[in-house]
Amino acid sequence: MELSASEASGRVVDRCLQIFGGRGYDRSYPVERLYRELRVDRIWEGTSEIQRLIVAGELVKRGTGVLQLPVTR
Ligand SMILES: Cc1cc2nc3c(=O)[nH]c(=O)nc-3n(C[C@H](O)[C@H](O)[C@H](O)COP(=O)(O)OP(=O)(O)OC[C@H]3O[C@@H](n4cnc5c(N)ncnc54)[C@H](O)[C@@H]3O)c2cc1C
Repeated sequence: MELSASEASGRVVDRCLQIFGGRGYDRSYPVERLYRELRVDRIWEGTSEIQRLIVAGELVKRGTGVLQLPVTR
């Protein structure tokens, strides 16, 4: 959950900053602060890479059945 949320929010705020252009990079605009604050979520409390390793380890241990993927016909 933490992994998917931090990755998704990172993609969203990156697009926001792009829309604002140079002003998005300017510290006097809130989007710069939002970008900076969301960026750290992919580093602290387990980097995205480490979280992926944990997820992969659990899949190896418990099998893909835990994912409860929808059956496609
Ligand atoms: C603002 C801020 C506040 C923090 N607050 C706290 C706090 O209150 N308490 C606390 O305990 N810590 C805190 N931290 C530390 C944080 O938990 C660490 O920065 C984080 O665990 C990453 O460790 P590192 O910085 O040593 O990076 P490293 O472990 O050196 O990682 C560097 C890069 O290598 C990748 N990497 C490392 N090992 C592997 C691997 N085996 N496979 C693939 N990729 C790998 C990482 O994903 C990352 O991209 C804070 C960090 C920041 C930036």
